[in-house]
Amino acid sequence: MIRDIERIYGTLLSRQYQKKLFQDLEGLQEKGDSLIARCPFHEDEHPTFIIYPDRPEYFCFVCGARGDWLGYLQLKTGMDFFGALRLLAGEAGIDPVAYDKNAWDDELSRTILLELMAGFFTTSLYSPAGERELFYLYNRRYAMGEVEGSSFGFYPGYLQTREYLVSQGLTDEFLDKVLDAVWSRDAEEFRLTIPYRDTAGRLMGMIGRDVTKKGPEAYRALTDLSILRDSPFLLYKHRGSEDLLVVEGFLDALLVDRIGLIPVAGVGKSGLSAGQCDTIASYGTRRCILCLGSGRERKDLMLKSADLVESRGMQAAFLPLGDEYEDLDHFIRATELKDFRKLLKKTCTREEYMRGQMT
Ligand SMILES: [Zn+2]
Repeated sequence: MIRDIERIYGTLLSRQYQKKLFQDLEGLQEKGDSLIARCPFHEDEHPTFIIYPDRPEYFCFVCGARGDWLGYLQLKTGMDFFGALRLLAGEAGIDPVAYDKNAWDDELSRTILLELMAGFFTTSLYSPAGERELFYLYNRRYAMGEVEGSSFGFYPGYLQTREYLVSQGLTDEFLDKVLDAVWSRDAEEFRLTIPYRDTAGRLMGMIGRDVTKKGPEAYRALTDLSILRDSPFLLYKHRGSEDLLVVEGFLDALLVDRIGLIPVAGVGKSGLSAGQCDTIASYGTRRCILCLGSGRERKDLMLKSADLVESRGMQAAFLPLGDEYEDLDHFIRATELKDFRKLLKKTCTREEYMRGQMT
């Protein structure tokens, strides 16, 4: 099960609670999906304070104030940590247990650090150093705009990254404590970066891909991912969607998400776990459509995952790929968009799936 704070934030974001939380700010207006207002933390003539739509965070691009809703409530109202937590929990209708100020401090430092790094990595992808990784993405049928929208990045190495973070005002003391606790330094070859957000949209982890390798060996966690164990990849974009397509792999999930025909989440190579299933169910999804690849082993995994889905009171459905396709990513790259549309119409029940696999 995900932690209470993640569920509180996820629930409130689904209800666009930011519109209520920040309603008193001067000059508050919508800008795209975000809100923007005059910054409450410096003398501000123009709106420079951004309130994100898909994570419980804000950022002022003039004075650099950044933080999350819990921090904002404490700064703005003088409430203490537990007061702020109780208020948000009450609004979400959730009883928070086992969350304290230290855990909150750690998680906030982690997301602030990883957001800065992700921004730097995205810029680096378009620098000469990132050429090989960018070319790899284009080869995988990612169009230019899709790469830009997918927040991929290029990790230029530990020292350069640390230099950048110092130039952004982070102190060596902070970096010794937070960066070295979060970042894995034995994965320097895994340079194509994929941000991993929890179900509240907070950037909690990073995956690296070595584009010279194939298969599961090509991926490495660049940060500890245990905090994300029960948070399916990309679910923050599709919390509570009636139908959810569950695919194996990060790139598969990103590709399907960019195409935008169906809400999607990604799971690891051992399929859907009980904890991930609980999370999906708790946000209100009614039906999981499983597409975890072809081959004997994958089919068994689909059936096992379907058992879990049904045991959580959701409906399980199957998306059968022909045996000529290894996984959904392979199918999408080998066919045209209209074929993917057709495939989605072939969603079937367990009985139909089993029958189809026998012929
Ligand atoms: Zn400011």
